Amino acid sequence: MAPRKLAAGNWKMNGDLAALSQIDALITARPDPGCDVLICPPALLIQPMKARIGAHPIALGGQDCHARAFGAHTGDIAAVQLKDAGADYVILGHSERREYHKEFDVLVNAKAKAALTAGLKPIVCVGETLAQREGGQTDKIVGDQIAGSLAGLDNNQLKDMVIAYEPVWAIGTGKTATPEQAQEMHAFIRSEITESHGEDVAKAIRIQYGGSVKPANARELLSLPDVDGALVGGASLEVRSFTEIITNTLN
Ligand code: PEP
Repeated sequence: MAPRKLAAGNWKMNGDLAALSQIDALITARPDPGCDVLICPPALLIQPMKARIGAHPIALGGQDCHARAFGAHTGDIAAVQLKDAGADYVILGHSERREYHKEFDVLVNAKAKAALTAGLKPIVCVGETLAQREGGQTDKIVGDQIAGSLAGLDNNQLKDMVIAYEPVWAIGTGKTATPEQAQEMHAFIRSEITESHGEDVAKAIRIQYGGSVKPANARELLSLPDVDGALVGGASLEVRSFTEIITNTLN
C-alpha cells in the first residue's frame, strides 16, 4: 500500500507570534486534511504552535538539529529539545544548510541518528544544483547524498523517515521540475533505497518533492506515482495557498 501523503510547510526564518493565527485559519480551512500535514516553523514557535494546535491533526517539525544531545554548542538546538517542545519531525540537510552552513552528508547522517534517537522523524533533503544537472551528474550527486545521509540506518529506522527531493535550482526560484524530471528522480531514489534496504522499506518510505510547489502545479506533481507529498517553502507561508496544496495532495 502506498504511504499516506505528507504536505509539509517549511517556514524557514519567517513568522512570529502574530503568525500563530495562521494555524487557526488552517484548522478552520481543513479540520480533516485527509493527508498528513506538517508545519516546520522557526524553533521558537514550536511550543506556542503546539498549544494552539491542541488535538488537531497537524504535526510540527524543526528545520535542523545538532548531532549531539546536549553540550557546549552555542546557538544550536538538540533533537531532544525539539521533541520536548512538541516536534515530531525535523528537516535535515536542506540545501540552504548545505550551502550556507557547509553541511555535508556525514553530518546529515549523524543528525539523522540523533533525531531518531530523540523520537523525531528526519526529513532528509537531497538535490542537485543546476550546474550538476547540466553536467549530467544528477544521479551521482543524489545517489551519493542518499547513501551518505542514510548510512548505518536500519530498515525500521528508515521506514519512519522521509526523503525530500529538492532540486536546488527549483528552490525559491519559481522554477519547478517538470513532472517527467520529478518522477524520474523519485523513481531513482526509490530504486536506490530498494538496493540498499530492500523493497518493503523503499515502498514504505515517503519521498516528497520540493521546489517552488504552488497551488497551480501541486496537483500534477503530487499525482505522480512516486511522489508521496510536498515540502513547500514560500507557498506554505500563506494559509490559502498551503490549504490549496493540501487539497491537491488528496488526489
Ligand atoms: C524549500 O525551501 O524547501 C522549498 C521547497 O522552498 P520553495 O517552495 O519556496 O521553493
